[in-house]
Amino acid sequence: MMRTTCPYCGVGCQVEPEVREGRVVRVLAPDLPPNHGALCVKGRFGLDFPFSGKRLLYPMVRERKGAPLRRATWEEALDFAAGKLLEVLRRKGPGGIAVFPSAKTTNEEVYLAQKLARALLSTHNVDHCSRLCHSSSTAALSRSLGGASMTNPIEDVWKTDLFLVVGSNTTETHPVIAAMIKKRVRQGARMIVVDPRYTGMAEAATLWLRVRPGTDVFLLNAMARYLLEEGLWDRAYVEARTEGFAEWRASLEGYTLEAAQEVTGVPKEGIAEAARLYATTERAGAYWAMGVTQHTKGTATAQALVNLALLTGKVGKEGAGLNPLRGQNNVQGAGDMGALPDVYPGYLRVAEEGPRRRFEALWGVPLPEAPGLRMTEVFAAIPEVEAIYLIGEDPVTSEPYQDHVKEKLLALPFLVVQDILENETTPFADVVLPAASFLEKEGTFTNTDRRVQRVRKLLDPPGEARPDWWITQELGKRLAQALGRPWPTYPGPETIWEEVRRAIPEMVGGISYARLEAQGVRWPCPEEGHPGEAVLFREGFNTPTGKARFFPAPYTPPAETPSPDYPLTLSTGRVLFHWHGGTLSRNSQLNQAYPELKVEVNPIDAKRLGLEDGEPVYVVSRRGRIRARAWVTERTPEGVVYAPFHFAEAPANRLTLDALDPVSRIPEYKVSAVRLEKAD
Ligand code: SF4
Repeated sequence: MMRTTCPYCGVGCQVEPEVREGRVVRVLAPDLPPNHGALCVKGRFGLDFPFSGKRLLYPMVRERKGAPLRRATWEEALDFAAGKLLEVLRRKGPGGIAVFPSAKTTNEEVYLAQKLARALLSTHNVDHCSRLCHSSSTAALSRSLGGASMTNPIEDVWKTDLFLVVGSNTTETHPVIAAMIKKRVRQGARMIVVDPRYTGMAEAATLWLRVRPGTDVFLLNAMARYLLEEGLWDRAYVEARTEGFAEWRASLEGYTLEAAQEVTGVPKEGIAEAARLYATTERAGAYWAMGVTQHTKGTATAQALVNLALLTGKVGKEGAGLNPLRGQNNVQGAGDMGALPDVYPGYLRVAEEGPRRRFEALWGVPLPEAPGLRMTEVFAAIPEVEAIYLIGEDPVTSEPYQDHVKEKLLALPFLVVQDILENETTPFADVVLPAASFLEKEGTFTNTDRRVQRVRKLLDPPGEARPDWWITQELGKRLAQALGRPWPTYPGPETIWEEVRRAIPEMVGGISYARLEAQGVRWPCPEEGHPGEAVLFREGFNTPTGKARFFPAPYTPPAETPSPDYPLTLSTGRVLFHWHGGTLSRNSQLNQAYPELKVEVNPIDAKRLGLEDGEPVYVVSRRGRIRARAWVTERTPEGVVYAPFHFAEAPANRLTLDALDPVSRIPEYKVSAVRLEKAD
């Protein structure tokens, strides 16, 4: 048995899959951080997807639009892909190409993919799926604190006396952390949950605030205003460690408790109590997820949480802090490795001269100055963007307004899809490159609390599949030869990691593969022997002045509100048994436990429609219609329908709209107007 890292969520549980005769027969968990022997159902029973019949086993090429994909050799496929990318580069320039590394792949693979984009194709059009999940948190945390990650480690749960959980269905999306939090609550800690749905967290809460979808920012601003009025804020902390306070304070003018009650639907007494509890508990930690971020005001909502934590002096302390729960197994690492259009690895800004000079010296090439396009902007820019190199993503399932995404992909002149399994986007590809799964390669993932952990090879990849780093390296070799640019040959992931250590020593300089043998190490870890920083910003912030900055966080209504034709609000999300677009979990035995889409409908709405529990129903928005089974339940409030988005045959994202947050460009997945129709 060999220890590796769970490929599902950002908790990064350590797993020991037992492989017999080329199959995972059981999964154990060692007594090591972050999970100390615990696993959820996905880690325990969902690791068999590498054996799915949908594995991509050999490269494929579509020689011209309209022709079928045909089997090709690696040489043919890579030559073809490189030739087409070079053609677009010559005709359209670097702006005509985008590269999307995957938050499911290793740090080494992400690093190499963004290096290919920047050092060979001269473009910063690099992005990844955090655009669709925590880009709002990244925007708010970066500008306020100068860092975009959890400020506190997972084990700080045991030191926390009050949890403020906003828009996070932690029980289903980060189950091992949820179990820890609930245990801590049973030990006497208190928990405030802000969520429209009666989730597992709401069930365990000391105080549940059933906020209307998309109004959290109003509630958080009202909490801050109330604390200022009552004098329940940390004046010494604000004066010593922050700036921008007066301007932000002035922006809270209209956020009274009465107005908040009106807008959010939460009684003003509850809002005041939540504010008092949070402010007066020394060790109070804020945790949040997509309920905060996936709105046209996602950045403002994350910002309102940051402001509240600064006002009450909660950042830079044990058992407290600001803790965005990251989704994918390596979404933290993908950002750390520079899979973003405005930063190099280590979050060094592409627009600044110092970082540019650093990477020019390391890679031996001149680099562009202007930031690139974000993922959602790239899709909007098709066919001006003519070529996409897509790694481990299924935008047909994960982007909003699916029919529009399909139109865009049909209009895209050239698409390379690199993945382990067939998905809804594969049919749009011009080149398909089969990749190895997490069980079939070496490398590292970085979990939600910045812990870099090893991924170890247990099996050979099936057919002709190859690790992503090998594929990107081979593609890069062809581009480099044609462009006359340097591109080293890396014998394996460890050599790539050594380059990462040299690139950003202040972040991971002290983290070697040898050191990771014992257990994961958290960044920042600048040198060997450094233990890795657990709590960030104890002394100063990573801003030019060393102080954190308040920013106004204005409330704006959702882009689409209910109307007589579409009287209900649709909110999308996840369920315990499945993961994101479903490419992995629905190709595992987990699918037997949860095989079809169920939409949550409140009993009052169901009664109005004459809808029984378990009946088939159509969910209809201005953009399309899907068929589902109704789950009549009080988990969801009256007027709100909840649909998980894991089901390709009934895609919730056929219904969602593509309105974007103006700062992070995240789509508003959490609020669309829909109606229900009985399906016979
Ligand atoms: Fe895997 Fe996350 Fe479950 Fe842990 S909590 S076993 S990392 S899915």
